[in-house]
Amino acid sequence: SEPRLVAARATAISPRLTLVLIRDITERERVEEMRRDFVANTSHELKTPVGAVSLLAEAIEMAADDPDQVRIFTARLSAEASRLGALTSRIMSLSRLQASAELTEVRDVSIDEVVASAVDAHTLQADSAQVSIVRGGTRGLYVRGEAQVLSEAVGNLIANAIAYSPQGSSVGVGVKSVDEVVEIAVTDRGIGIHESDQNRVFERFYRADQARSRRTGGTGLGLSIVKHAVQRHGGEVRLWSRPGRGSTFTIRLPLADVPEDRAPRTKARR
Ligand code: ADP
Repeated sequence: SEPRLVAARATAISPRLTLVLIRDITERERVEEMRRDFVANTSHELKTPVGAVSLLAEAIEMAADDPDQVRIFTARLSAEASRLGALTSRIMSLSRLQASAELTEVRDVSIDEVVASAVDAHTLQADSAQVSIVRGGTRGLYVRGEAQVLSEAVGNLIANAIAYSPQGSSVGVGVKSVDEVVEIAVTDRGIGIHESDQNRVFERFYRADQARSRRTGGTGLGLSIVKHAVQRHGGEVRLWSRPGRGSTFTIRLPLADVPEDRAPRTKARR
């Protein structure tokens, strides 16, 4: 292909220049390959719900004389449509994070606000699953970044913790700072993740067997979004889990100084 030719030509010029060029090409090829895979996987994943929607529309048409049947099919149609909506919005989040553009609205972000909005966004889900969310830990910590991206990441961990937990259990969201790092830990006492799956769950569209058989209606994109969002902020995600015992996902982000206007007031100087 064209880029390889460029590299080959460069060899003749200077060995050092070649090295630089080849590295650039492999990076570009890697990005291109990721993009191709993403489009292919995504199209594949969209086929199922889109197919279901059109089948259900046909079924409704055919059952027109039977109101009970129509009601059943309509409910399923609407469930498939919202699944399709959720999938689409996750695909958009992920593709935005994977694009090479930098974060756009970087500011000092309050971890209290990130956690509060992530928890708020999942109270309905928690209520209907009869799972309680318990918040705790250190207040008043800040990081540099995009609040919305971070809330979505923490929210995805909370959504999973609820989805893979038994009724009546609780999910913990704890915050602390360790050296120059903020740790946000989301803990559940749910089904846990097999050791052999623990690395793979961060891949797009990967779902462990237990989760798939549970039919939680997941997309397999949540953790991939978390990983990219956190990496974009110079952080990392850690996972501890035991099947049958539960899981803890920990987001670690570089701590920022408390913005001056938010710092606790010290005694007025005279
Ligand atoms: P999904 O939409 O399927 O939840 P994710 O990317 O968020 O997709 O998670 C990928 C897989 O990781 C899930 O399908 C599930 O197998 C596993 N997983 C994620 N979070 C948990 C958890 N808290 N407990 C058990 N399994 C989990």
